[in-house]
Amino acid sequence: MAYCQNCGQMIDDKAVICVHCGVAVPSKISDSPSTGLKVLCFFFPIIGLILYLVKKDQTPISAKAYGKWALIGFLTGIVCTFVYNVLLIMMLAV
Ligand SMILES: [Zn+2]
Repeated sequence: MAYCQNCGQMIDDKAVICVHCGVAVPSKISDSPSTGLKVLCFFFPIIGLILYLVKKDQTPISAKAYGKWALIGFLTGIVCTFVYNVLLIMMLAV
């Protein structure tokens, strides 16, 4: 729920005009993902998952971006672990 900046009454999040006083509601909180957080999500996918769950209702565009980077980071982690293990096995086998 949001509050009208003119009369202070509770209004719907998606409201464009306040139903109580008729004043136009200023545009929503900006929904652009921050680069720093995307990097954080990449290196710590669990943070990306938490950010996604916390932000998906208020800022869905940012939430999706963080979720995506968390997934990329997670998959990269799996690939790195796999490559590392293969190299280790190869070195031990020699
Ligand atoms: Zn109002």
